[in-house]
Amino acid sequence: MSTWTETTLTTWGRSRFARSSTTAPADEAGLREAIRESHARGVITYGGGRCYGDASLDDGGQTILTSALNRIVSFDAETGNIVCESGVDFASLLSRVLRDGYCFPVSAATASVTVGGAFANDIHSKNHHRVGSFGDHTLWIDLMLASGELVRASRTENADIFHASLGGVGLTGTVMRVCFRLMPVPSNSADAQYRPMANVDEMIDTIDGSRESHEFLFGWVDAMATGKDLGRGSLELANLAPDDVGVAPEPATKRIRFEPPSAALHPAILRRITDRRFRKMPAAGWGARVNLRPFLFPIDNIVGFNRIYGKRGFYSIHTGFPRETQRAGIVAVMEAITAARAGSFAAVMKPMRGPGEGLLSFPMEGMAYAIDLPRRTGVEALHKEIERITLDHDGRLYIAKDALMTAETFAAMFPRLDEFREVLARIDPDGRFQSDMGRRLGLHP
Ligand SMILES: Cc1cc2nc3c(=O)[nH]c(=O)nc-3n(C[C@H](O)[C@H](O)[C@H](O)COP(=O)(O)OP(=O)(O)OC[C@H]3O[C@@H](n4cnc5c(N)ncnc54)[C@H](O)[C@@H]3O)c2cc1C
Repeated sequence: MSTWTETTLTTWGRSRFARSSTTAPADEAGLREAIRESHARGVITYGGGRCYGDASLDDGGQTILTSALNRIVSFDAETGNIVCESGVDFASLLSRVLRDGYCFPVSAATASVTVGGAFANDIHSKNHHRVGSFGDHTLWIDLMLASGELVRASRTENADIFHASLGGVGLTGTVMRVCFRLMPVPSNSADAQYRPMANVDEMIDTIDGSRESHEFLFGWVDAMATGKDLGRGSLELANLAPDDVGVAPEPATKRIRFEPPSAALHPAILRRITDRRFRKMPAAGWGARVNLRPFLFPIDNIVGFNRIYGKRGFYSIHTGFPRETQRAGIVAVMEAITAARAGSFAAVMKPMRGPGEGLLSFPMEGMAYAIDLPRRTGVEALHKEIERITLDHDGRLYIAKDALMTAETFAAMFPRLDEFREVLARIDPDGRFQSDMGRRLGLHP
């Protein structure tokens, strides 16, 4: 018998909570037992809890924590192929792989994400235009199904299960192990330039014009700017450095010690802060050789960053648009946000190349625009408006960040949903794997 503990779980946005029985199996037998003991409300897997909404929550149900599935099974320093249990996070992997001259081809902006969570959302980074998403570097997974059977899934073996599980938000089963390919790096550093961008047009044009010349492209957007300044910000353009000579010292870690009251997030105050940030940038930009750790995981330098929006938490809207409509779509989203006097410190733009292989993968050839929005009156209505704008421009929303999308919108944005449901119907006919997100978005057959 597994040991189950009643726990309240939340995720990064702190807008969604679940009361759930949790257990943390440490091996294959323990995982099988936990899945078999799940009851009618179902079970879901919880990795680092770094999704923003309800993807890893099952209120009233049971939750498998992967915190004890945390071993590196093998690492081949010749090929760069690594096999990890799914609860291994990127933070614990980083120093191990850098020592042998490798890094992750794809990671999130925080190293607290687990390998299982990276696969289950098919995550993408600021180098997506060059390397694609996490699934593109995954060779196989070992997945425990609702029946308790452990199957190997890859492009050649159980390929339908592989493609349903990649970005499948934990509904096909619990990933026990992941084998993926690391990226060789010449040093532990990147050469980065930071250039001020006057508006959204300059930002989009410079990103698109730099796809060939730069491995990493990442725009910070001043989401409070309007009119001719709409979409201004700074663009980070970077390549891996040949060596570590002259690397800048790692920035000091900051800590958010208290949750500001909602009055502190008043649009006028936010606007003053983002305006000051933009005006402080040198007009000619600047460059630096930076250490890969803070470069890849900038959010981790601010401990407790998710408390910055106050006790009520926040939502994130992460849109993606195809090349043809990216400019019009992003401008319409920015205008809707400024008209609603919403906005925040964190708004970013990244280029994307073609689609991920997962049936529910987010990326497409084009551009992603993402923004955190404090949870205030009116933000749900704004989200509805952005769903409509995104659909009208043939875009989609990223469910790793989602807490609000409707099932109808989801079905319209993800054309392979029926294929996903067919796989679920076959491998989990009783719907043993369940989540609040799965029910909200109607992901089950
Ligand atoms: C600060 C911050 C920055 C981020 N930046 C990026 C970014 O740049 N790019 C990007 O793509 N995403 C980004 N994300 C989102 C994040 O990468 C994803 O939400 C990721 O899935 C979180 O992984 P996790 O281990 O925390 O999993 P959780 O949040 O616990 O779970 C996420 C989903 O994965 C499933 N899951 C987790 N482990 C397993 C497993 N072993 N087997 C089966 N299913 C599993 C869960 O059921 C759930 O559906 C960011 C998140 C944060 C908080």
